[in-house]
Amino acid sequence: MATIINGVTTAQEVKDEIAEKVTIIRENGGKIPHLAAILVGDDGASQAYVGGKVKACEYVGFNSTLRKFDADMSEEELLKVVDELNEDPDIDGYIVQLPLPAHISARKITERILPEKDVDGFHPVNVGRMVKGLPAYVSATPFGIMQLLERYGIETEGKHCVVIGRSDIVGTPMSILLSRKSKPGNCTVTVCHSRTPNIKEFTLQADIVIAALGIPEFLTGDMVNEGVVVIDVGISRVPDETKPRGYALKGDVKYDEVEPKASFITPVPGGVGPMTIAALLHNTLLASQKEIYG
Ligand code: NAP
Repeated sequence: MATIINGVTTAQEVKDEIAEKVTIIRENGGKIPHLAAILVGDDGASQAYVGGKVKACEYVGFNSTLRKFDADMSEEELLKVVDELNEDPDIDGYIVQLPLPAHISARKITERILPEKDVDGFHPVNVGRMVKGLPAYVSATPFGIMQLLERYGIETEGKHCVVIGRSDIVGTPMSILLSRKSKPGNCTVTVCHSRTPNIKEFTLQADIVIAALGIPEFLTGDMVNEGVVVIDVGISRVPDETKPRGYALKGDVKYDEVEPKASFITPVPGGVGPMTIAALLHNTLLASQKEIYG
């Protein structure tokens, strides 16, 4: 029987720790962290994500600002808003909710954000600093996974970690963070992707598997060894008539088969997902304390 890694309670722990720090800052008359979010268009999922982020700011005592724009705003107009936030001394950090409408280049927008205010950690300067092992804002999902490994006391040093997926936002940063000389870290890392033949050959050698490919129930029981640590990043909607919404959320791991063999496992939902907001709050606190860029 595996220990179930509970992202909901761990995220709550992180939020409570941040709230305590904000209380101390307030008592000492310090600068209250201020996070801004830019939302373009009226995509329901994006609205819900941004709403959750604003609510989390209120919970920990941050100030928050939400700037909403119509989907037909131009790239030039959005770049101007980004410049305004870059120049606003009260805003410690901000995010531009993705995806953006097709006529706006997410790359251009991301690169215009000042690295010291880029609390999503997507700017190439933050990614480069992370790769070099310098202080940086680490993006939400990798940060959340590192927190879960640390807080559950999972030994990573000298372990073989197989990361399935090499995206910019999950697989690649995870492979870098876990191979770094740090704690958690010091893993021997293998990265698998869509061109890797016979992934099972690798996962059967793994002490830790991070599944981040977006294929529901890809990692089956016969692909892992007893005692493996499994971090399931995937979230896919799978049609399910028995659910009120007509779909179920599935991870990249066939949970019923893998859980009995694992030592630790993250469920979907309730594992990695809830940690992402905690990461954003953590980075915003660092930004307000000028801990990364001085
Ligand atoms: P992505 O950008 O689509 O990348 C998927 C990666 O998986 C790619 O590197 C791809 O390989 C690889 N892949 C695809 N099919 C494969 C196969 N059959 N075998 C091995 N590798 C394969 O996805 P992502 O943004 O990293 O997200 C991955 C999953 O995590 C999705 O389900 C997403 O919804 C979820 N997610 C969850 C959270 C969370 O908070 N829990 C956050 C972010 C993402 P190539 O590079 O060769 O194409």
